[in-house]
Amino acid sequence: WPTNSRSYDVVSVHSVGKIPLGIKRKGLRIVVTGGAGFVGSHLVDRLIARGDSVIVVDNFFTGMKENVMHHFGNPNFELIRHDVVEPLLLEVDQIYHLACPASPVHYKFNPVKTIKTNVVGTLNMLGLAKRVGARFLLTSTSEIYGDPLEHPQKETYWGNVNPIGVRSCYDEGKRTAETLTMDYHRGAGVEVRIARIFNTYGPRMCLDDGRVVSNFVAQALRKEPLTVYGDGKQTRSFQYVSDLVEGLMRLMEGEHVGPFNLGNPGEFTMLELAKVVQETIDPEAKIEYRPNTEDDPHKRKPDISRAKEQLGWEPKVDLRKGLPLMVSDFRQRIFGDQKEGTT
Ligand code: NAD
Ligand code: UDP
Ligand code: UDP
Repeated sequence: WPTNSRSYDVVSVHSVGKIPLGIKRKGLRIVVTGGAGFVGSHLVDRLIARGDSVIVVDNFFTGMKENVMHHFGNPNFELIRHDVVEPLLLEVDQIYHLACPASPVHYKFNPVKTIKTNVVGTLNMLGLAKRVGARFLLTSTSEIYGDPLEHPQKETYWGNVNPIGVRSCYDEGKRTAETLTMDYHRGAGVEVRIARIFNTYGPRMCLDDGRVVSNFVAQALRKEPLTVYGDGKQTRSFQYVSDLVEGLMRLMEGEHVGPFNLGNPGEFTMLELAKVVQETIDPEAKIEYRPNTEDDPHKRKPDISRAKEQLGWEPKVDLRKGLPLMVSDFRQRIFGDQKEGTT
């Protein structure tokens, strides 16, 4: 195999797990697939700040160079335009595998591509992990629980997913990705980690990605009505992005395979979320009801006891604290240099 390994001073991944986060240790070479996206770019910031060398692999379907541009010129940072559906040769110590559109609007845009990304893309990154002996972390999703019949959802719940529905390219894709991950672990001894991420929000989300928090925030700022789908009584639990990144890093560095739910147990109906957005941005913002999308899960709330016990992790930022941080980023991107309040 060709090799691009350089003379990095690297400790083996096996010893990394024993070093608590925050303690100084020699840099690792880490691939972040989907690293130009919303979650990935925040993860890259933390890894670079910690002193690791990061290679971002992204096809820019939903990600943007702007999300990682501040690292250009840093010798510890590299950006590769590449589609994970194609094989990739790199020499690294850890792989954070995030590449996959996350907003329903994006993943339904080309469902066959979504399932290829989840299945072939994950297979390729597991093949890479196997070849170079890297530790592999999959970002799975709460969507694997489908429209859950257990509430809140524990990792032991197997889910209630429509295999032929419009969301299945994503949720069945991620379920298969989890299966592949466990089969490479059991069959080829690859060190793996699985995170099941619940709805996450924060700065750098695409402005018009169709997800509910980004929609409501952009709508309120633009003085447009907040679009509530269905009766607005369906629930989600919203996690601020810095909490998620902390959880992903603890999971990668820790000893446990998972799967682990990473989410904020604070549960809101969409009408309650609309109210928080009104209170944060514009109490006069109107609500407009729209028909709901097909197969929309009625409720979603993580049981995070496993992550608390085994990773010592729990979210710190609640919705009322996190939302204003996202609002200032959206305000900046929507109105540029205009002063607040002039819109
Ligand atoms: P995002 O759409 O902002 O980021 C995904 C990134 O992957 C983008 O940069 C995109 O360009 C890239 N990508 C997509 N397909 C690719 C391909 N075939 N090859 C290379 N790159 C590709 O989404 P996000 O919110 O940052 O989500 C990141 C990961 O976390 C995804 O795997 C998603 O399924 C998972 N997740 C996110 C949430 C959430 O609420 N944000 C919830 C559950 C799971
Ligand atoms: N693969 C890759 N990079 C590597 C090693 C493998 O992209 O460094 C891809 C490879 O092309 C294959 C997949 O990962 O499609 C699975 O590889 P594995 O070696 O597990 O299976 P095999 O090639 O034997 O089918
Ligand atoms: N939703 C809404 N208005 C919007 C966008 C979404 O009421 O403008 C609802 C949607 O029907 C779903 C919930 O918000 O019940 C979360 O949707 P999102 O697309 O953010 O995430 P997911 O369905 O993947 O959890």
